[in-house]
Amino acid sequence: MSAELIRDPREWQRRCWSARVQGRRLALVPTMGFLHEGHLSLMREARRLADAPVLARGQPEEAGQERAGGLALATIFVNPTQFGPAEDLARYPRDLEGDLAKCSAAGIDWVLAPERAGQVYGDGHETWVEVERVSRGLCGEKRPGHFRGVATVVTKLFNLTLPHVALFGDKDWQQLQVIRALVRDLDFGIDVVGMPIVREHDGLARSSRNAYLSGDERRRALALSRALFEARDRAAAGERDAAALVAGATRALVAVGARVDYVEVVHPTKLARVARAETGSRMLLAAFVGATRLIDNAALP
Ligand code: AMP
Repeated sequence: MSAELIRDPREWQRRCWSARVQGRRLALVPTMGFLHEGHLSLMREARRLADAPVLARGQPEEAGQERAGGLALATIFVNPTQFGPAEDLARYPRDLEGDLAKCSAAGIDWVLAPERAGQVYGDGHETWVEVERVSRGLCGEKRPGHFRGVATVVTKLFNLTLPHVALFGDKDWQQLQVIRALVRDLDFGIDVVGMPIVREHDGLARSSRNAYLSGDERRRALALSRALFEARDRAAAGERDAAALVAGATRALVAVGARVDYVEVVHPTKLARVARAETGSRMLLAAFVGATRLIDNAALP
């Protein structure tokens, strides 16, 4: 089956709301497109959850409604409000035709891909969603306004779609915490599913932005995942001092000429910095390789 492309957010809303009323289970994967194996793992899981005989955790059953077939839904929208003025909005990679073929292969039913940002943000848009605590620090500090843009567009996509379940990648760990807080605090009643990071064979986390890397930068970019894996091994061997783990990872990044944005060991959900790495603590890092900013993270054992 091929995925059906819908351009108009209003038509998307009409169709999703009507499907919801009919009792169909809706599983949503929001993306910015230029799809890779990381996105596709979310989409295949969305297909599975849409078809699952029982709703995912925590979903109230819609009593008395007949269950029609579930729908796996994806959105492709390069959201301008989550980019800073000096960031890569204008050159963000795009390939709608290729993306649609990949969505089809992953079992997606409908794809919302607005043609213009103005279809999503109407004239005079003035309402913003701010998730305060977990948006601070890390990418929130380095990219002011980024998570406000993310929380706002995700809120809009949730309202346009009314999904039962929405899937996000652990790759954007802070974003996942922002969305979990958003859903909890604003009573969206959506089951948020976090999916493991999909990596290249050598360890580099899959990212649409990897397309920016030259051959040499691609080799140097390996330092991000290697720094995380080394920190993980050291923690497994008993090193609990977060500062020592951060220093080691920073050295590994600097050694390949990467410009470090941050390296931190944090509480996995609160994202507050910790002095000692406990089980479940997470190392998060961001660094520029050439002009390309990459992020990655890993749980410490
Ligand atoms: P993006 O298109 O970069 O906004 O990503 C859309 C969704 O795919 C987000 O929930 C990301 O966390 C997720 N994602 C991106 N890269 C990966 C990856 N390598 N592994 C797992 N999920 C990913």
